[in-house]
Amino acid sequence: MRYAQVVLDIPTRQLEGAFCYAIPDGMEDDAQVGATVLVTFSHRTAVGYVVEVLDQPPAGLNPSRIASLESVLAGSAFDEARARLAVWMASEYACPLSEAIRPFLAPGQGFRVRRVHDGGPWELESVKSGPVDERWVRLTEEGRSFEPRRTAARQRALIASLAEGPVRMAELSVLMSGAASVVSSLEKRGVVAVEERRRVRGGTVTTLSSANAPRPEKLTAGQKCALAAIAKARKAARGDVVLIDGVTGSGKTEVYLDAIEAAIADGKRALVLVPEISLTAQTVGRFRSRFGDDVAILHSRLSVGERFDQWDLARQGLVHVVVGARSALFAPLSDLGLIIIDEEHEHTYKQESAPRYHARDVAAQLAAETGCALVLGSATPSLESINRCEAGVWRNASWTCVQMPERPGVSQLPRVSVVDMTQQFQQGNRSVFSKPLTEALQAVAQRREKAVLLLNRRGFATFLMCRDCGCVPECPHCSTSLTYHERTRELMCHTCGRSWPQRAFPDPMTRCPNCGSRYMAAFGVGTQRVEDELRMLLPEDVDIVRMDADTTRTKGAHQRLLEEFDASECAVLVGTQMIAKGLDFPEVTLVGVVNADTTLKMPDFRAAERTYDLLEQVAGRAGRGVRAGEVIVQTYWAGHPAIQAVARHDRDLFLAAEEVDRRDGGYPPFSRLANVVIWGKRASEVRASADELAAYVHQQVDGRAGWEVLGPADCAKAKAKDNYRRHVLVKAPIDASLGELLGSCARQVKSRPGVNLAVDVDAYDLL
Ligand code: ADP
Ligand code: ZN
Ligand code: ZN
Repeated sequence: MRYAQVVLDIPTRQLEGAFCYAIPDGMEDDAQVGATVLVTFSHRTAVGYVVEVLDQPPAGLNPSRIASLESVLAGSAFDEARARLAVWMASEYACPLSEAIRPFLAPGQGFRVRRVHDGGPWELESVKSGPVDERWVRLTEEGRSFEPRRTAARQRALIASLAEGPVRMAELSVLMSGAASVVSSLEKRGVVAVEERRRVRGGTVTTLSSANAPRPEKLTAGQKCALAAIAKARKAARGDVVLIDGVTGSGKTEVYLDAIEAAIADGKRALVLVPEISLTAQTVGRFRSRFGDDVAILHSRLSVGERFDQWDLARQGLVHVVVGARSALFAPLSDLGLIIIDEEHEHTYKQESAPRYHARDVAAQLAAETGCALVLGSATPSLESINRCEAGVWRNASWTCVQMPERPGVSQLPRVSVVDMTQQFQQGNRSVFSKPLTEALQAVAQRREKAVLLLNRRGFATFLMCRDCGCVPECPHCSTSLTYHERTRELMCHTCGRSWPQRAFPDPMTRCPNCGSRYMAAFGVGTQRVEDELRMLLPEDVDIVRMDADTTRTKGAHQRLLEEFDASECAVLVGTQMIAKGLDFPEVTLVGVVNADTTLKMPDFRAAERTYDLLEQVAGRAGRGVRAGEVIVQTYWAGHPAIQAVARHDRDLFLAAEEVDRRDGGYPPFSRLANVVIWGKRASEVRASADELAAYVHQQVDGRAGWEVLGPADCAKAKAKDNYRRHVLVKAPIDASLGELLGSCARQVKSRPGVNLAVDVDAYDLL
């Protein structure tokens, strides 16, 4: 008899650890680590996940009193190493184990046990996205004379249902539990054959010209160094990390491709994470062009069925490379040799809902568990990664940094100039474009080249501001600044989605709600206004392509717009943050940043880093070809170190100032920071829970060096969707087990109906 350790999918902090169940005869093949099972737990039915299979019951348990598994609902989605990773995540990020396991499950899988009505029986609901089953099973010639053993009931049943002719795998799975394993064992004996008539959904990427990356004739010195460091890290086989600190266009992607080739040659496989697939279609296209069908692609814009198919390619071992956004890290790829995280500084690697993990840290842990190497690449590495490389070791793995300061060939880093917009205003210029940017745009049009214009926000004019007192109207439900959309003359809240006609709010919106002044004006510019001003500025034969949240809402829109820009002979691409990443158009000779400041003014200790990263990334879009590039940055804060560092191509200008601020303030990377948010409809209850939590944390940490508890206080977004929000910030030394401590404090807080609590360890979103 074997036993399964099962984590129950009952997401409560009170129910920790795994429970032991006996595996009944006939279920051994299916009840493997990673399988989803149905069990009985304290008189109810529950869904659970097998995290370990044991030959003996755990010590202290009487075998005769151990209940058996009811059934196996889905086959293995993860292996032992990943099961251990989930356990680590639950403790590191202070979340229930079942939540830590969810990201590993097959896309679209959702088994739930619910009561149909109060007090009624528990019933299983299943949402399961299988392949569009084009797999057909048929009896072979030899199979027709095959006699199963008398005890092999399922083999008999299967053969009987194939007697009339081939049956789709999906149907067999519905007809009998564990059909897949019966089929595969009979297939091995040549009794049945499985025919792939299956069409795999979701694999197309891009038709952009630059996505076809020819193999360069020879590598740069930096690229050779990087590859050598990666080879060494792979050989160490203990999760060593290589940070490639390479300027934009220095050939990092080429390094990834070559490193993966080497890994595949050794029989290994590779996971590649990119910030957001739709924004990095070109990069993904290059993986496709190098590895062809050997790549599975996983991202959020795929339909569930598409995601399932791509995920299943990885599980079946049919591909050696998986490229995807954050969650692709959990793909069931065996024989890992390499994990690559491109643009490792990107904040999309932090998941903002449970489990609130950071892909960089989970990847480091997965690399350590599986003994593969982790490669991080960026032109603007995070302060965290820079800091770990300086230390040389972090969590028992070695961290090495390789610099790639130059672009291959003739391509040069662009010239960057900063325009002080307060001076432009004093000189009477009311346009969105300063004089230097206007002239540069006209010159691009004349030379028939291409330009990219970055805007730090979305919408037409971003918000209404009182010119007299500076008051900005807020949503009464969310305390978020309302954005103003000129075309519809509406004020909109981007937290809850409510909107008001300008006239009706707060009735009417012609006077300042704070001081009564009549001078309420739209402040800031949006992509539409930039587009409109551009049309007036430039000759008609210059194409203008606008890319923002509004124009990219539909599936594939992003791609179409990029292709439009690619195909045009002379064009300007206007867009928000999403245009800053990964684009590689050699004909772009001018990059303009319309407003560099908005991110600098966010209430967040990473505001300067975010701004620096964004500017450096977008500046890297210029001059990637033979022609030199120019970058013009418009700002009201020309002296800020983040802006100066970009202008002078000198990261140390920014880093030196920033590290002093972070060290003095006790912020990451010199400490760990967690944000515990408590929210609910009733302010008094929220307040009570927050106070209680803070008291428990104080009890644990007071007097311990390097620990600090801030709050409880209202969040910057003090209200969202009519919920009151309070938070407690906890700072801890960098080697502290922060999640473990907060998890135990959170478990002690009295549960109050309608009050929610979320622990966000190593938080990025502090609003
Ligand atoms: P990054 O990922 O660092 O931004 P890429 O890998 O996209 O840089 O490289 C930028 C450009 O330089 C690409 O067009 C790529 O094909 C080219 N390239 C990369 N390595 C070399 C090399 N060793 N020699 C010549 N061209 C190269
Ligand atoms: Zn006012
Ligand atoms: Zn709102």
